[in-house]
Parts: sequence; structure tokens; C-alpha cells
Amino acid sequence: MNKRVVILGSGESGVGAAILAQAKGFDVFVSDKGEIKEKYKAILDEKKIAYEQGMHTEEKILNASEIIKSPGIPDKAEMIKKAKAKGINIVSEIEFGGRYTDAKKICITGSNGKTTTTMLTHHILTNAGYNVGLAGNVGRSLALQVATEKHDYYVIELSSFQLDDMHDFKADIAILLNITPDHLDRYEYKFENYILSKFRVTQNQKAEDAFIYCEDDPVIMEYLEKVNPKAKRYPFSIKKKLEQDGAYMIENQITININQNPLNMTIEQLALQGKHNVYNSMAASIAARLVDVRKENLRESLSDFVNVEHRLEAVATIMGIEYINDSKATNVNSVWYALESMNKPVVLIMGGVDKGNDYTQLYDLIKDKVKALVCLGVDNSKLIESFGSAVETIVEAKTMNEAVAYSSKLGKKGDVVLLSPACASFDLFQNYEDRGMQFKAAVRSL
Ligand code: ADP
Repeated sequence: MNKRVVILGSGESGVGAAILAQAKGFDVFVSDKGEIKEKYKAILDEKKIAYEQGMHTEEKILNASEIIKSPGIPDKAEMIKKAKAKGINIVSEIEFGGRYTDAKKICITGSNGKTTTTMLTHHILTNAGYNVGLAGNVGRSLALQVATEKHDYYVIELSSFQLDDMHDFKADIAILLNITPDHLDRYEYKFENYILSKFRVTQNQKAEDAFIYCEDDPVIMEYLEKVNPKAKRYPFSIKKKLEQDGAYMIENQITININQNPLNMTIEQLALQGKHNVYNSMAASIAARLVDVRKENLRESLSDFVNVEHRLEAVATIMGIEYINDSKATNVNSVWYALESMNKPVVLIMGGVDKGNDYTQLYDLIKDKVKALVCLGVDNSKLIESFGSAVETIVEAKTMNEAVAYSSKLGKKGDVVLLSPACASFDLFQNYEDRGMQFKAAVRSL
């Protein structure tokens, strides 16, 4: 009998894994405790892949030789505990997909900036004429592409949840952007567990592989010595000149220095603005140079990249007020970078579901740059308490239209209205995309 592979969770990665497992001749079963989206059900039906939804039937799951688990399912879920107790191997879709491709893999992780850097790296390689797939948290699943397409390279966005179920997978080029506390509820509230999970992006790497990381990040630097990855190191910094291969910024000029062959650009030439994006651009550039993208090509792609939606996305300028959608800023650190990159007086729209935020690190920036705060959430008391003494004007809104209307009144020519919430969105919106779309619609109908 064929080996049985059971897939838990039937979203993009689950269905991709099912298709690949079927193509490789496994006996495949998909189980989703929730409702499977119509789009994915149709694919499973068409491929005649067995599945269930709304439940997990133990007998059909615990007879697996391997389980592929969606990153959304925590280790403490009942079925995972049972599978572990039985000694069943549990892997992520990326681990599974990675077994069946010998394409070069550029893997990107970090607490913030993953999607931006992944999209940018993909853009650079595509523009340079490479045959490259985009996978992980963005785009289509790696497993699906491995099953149905042939690429020479993959650029893969990895969350810590995916990394947790990766064991033998190896990144040819690993990028670690930054590490700040996030998702601690999944890591027994121990920051160290989350840090080590992020460092798994370097696991199995050998001396000929590459590890690109932020030299300015104190957490990364502390654990770099403890974890001691085997790969060749390529740091990037905006604080100091680096002598070794890597990237750095001095005044407004960045240098990407690989094999004594430096590329220089001013930050004004970069499509992605803001300090955080200098980091993202440097990380992507090192990776690009390591796979031999030509300097002229790289320069062009760094300048013509169109930013990903909902990340410091310029929406419109109305009556001299600029409107920026940063709905994806769902934690304090990303708001810090957003504000840091603003050079006009800011009307800030903030709020939503607070994941235990510590707002103290935003206090000085808000005091310095924010002229009015529009709180957009069901419960705004913590924001008002945290920033009451920092901002002259604080108002509360219960809908996006209301928030945008207030903002347009509070702002004047030369100001910027920034939606950068620091919080999750589900008190008033379906998700951050919905929040960003509503913002853009409200701005456009002003
Ligand atoms: P992720 O995929 O890691 O969530 P995104 O690229 O979607 O990251 O960006 C999420 C938020 O973080 C956005 O608000 C963005 O402006 C901000 N951000 C992007 N890059 C960085 C970075 N290197 N450091 C801190 N914040 C960042």
C-alpha cells in the first residue's frame, strides 16, 4: 500500500501539498476543522482527492505516515498532540514541497518586512530574466508550483510557524530581517522560543550557503553567536560601514558590496522609502548579487519596484493633504518605522484589537510628529491613556468613513494622514486588507 499523507488545513498551502502528494503517488487525505473555501473544494473534487470539512476524524488521520500541517494550526491543537504522541512525522508544506525541487531557494523571514522583501527580491530576479517562483506566505504555495511548474529559483516568504515544522529543508540563501516580539501566544510567552524559531531559517545550511541578516538588530546579533550558523555571513547595516561582504549606508548612500564589486545608490533612487525599506532593499540586493544579477539590472529594479498594497501605500493627495495606507502595520514596531519615515506633520489613524501592545516606544515619535490622533477601534481607552499627554487633539471614530472625515478636517495643506493602526483589525473589519480598502475608498470619495 502507498504511504498515507494526511493534510491538516485546506487553504492555499494545504491544497498545494495535496496536489503534490498525489502527484508523487501517496495515498492522500485532507482534513479541515473549518469550512473549506469553494475555490479549494472545487480543486480537490476535480483532482478526486479525498477530504473532510467541519471535523477531524481521528481514524482517518492518525493512520498517516506523515502529516502536513497548515501553519495556522498551533501545536497545542488536540489532533496535533495525538499525532505527536503516536510518533507521526509532522511537517509544513514548505518542507514537503522542498523535497521535490532542486531549484535554488531564497528564504526570507523576520518579524516585519517579509512580504515587502520577498516581493522586491522576486521583482529583481524576474526583471533580470530569471525563471523564478514566488512562494510561502505570498502568492501560490510552493508545493503546487513544484507539482506543476519548473523554476530555477524560488523566493519564499517564511513565517516562524512554517519554520517550526521544517526539519531537513535548507535555504541556499537565508534572509533574517529583524526580530521583535510577536505571536508570543504561540511560543509559551517566551521570546527566546520565537527567536530560535526565526533562526531556523539557517538550519542545515553549509559553508557554501549564504546568511543575510541585519547587523543593527541587537536580538539577531546576540543569537548569531549562540546559534552560530554555518553559512557565509552577509550583514547589512545603516549605522556603520562594513568591511566584509554585505551592505551598508553612509549618509544617504547605500553600498552593496559583494566580491569586491560594490554597487552604490542614493536612498532617493530607491522605490521603497523609509529607513525600514532601506533595510529591505539592502537585504534583497545582497541576495540578488549573490545569484549574479547584474548591477545595472539591480539598480533599475530597485528604482521601479511598485510597493505592495497596504504597506505605506500612497493613496492620494487631496487639498494638499497626502493620504497613506499602512493598514498592514499590525504591531508597534511597524508603526514606529512608518512614523520615523514621515517628514510632514501627521494625522495618525490608529487602533483596533490590541495584542498586548506596549506603546511606550512610540511616545516620543508621536509627541514629535503627530498633530492629531484619530482612534479607530471599539475600545480606545489604552490609546487615549498612552498618548493623551503627547498629542494635542485626540478623537474617536467607529467607522473608517468617520475616521477619514475627521482626519481631513484635522489636517491642513502640507500634512499627511497616515493609517498605521498598530493593532489587528477584526473588531471593525474583516482583516487588514478590508481595513485598507475601506480607507482607500473613503479617501477617494472625499
Ligand atoms: P510582514 O510580511 O513581515 O508582515 P510586510 O512587508 O507586510 O511585513 O510589512 C508589514 C508592516 O511592517 C508594514 O506596515 C511595513 O511598513 C512595516 N515594515 C516593512 N519592513 C519593515 C522592516 N524592515 N522593519 C520594520 N517594519 C517594517
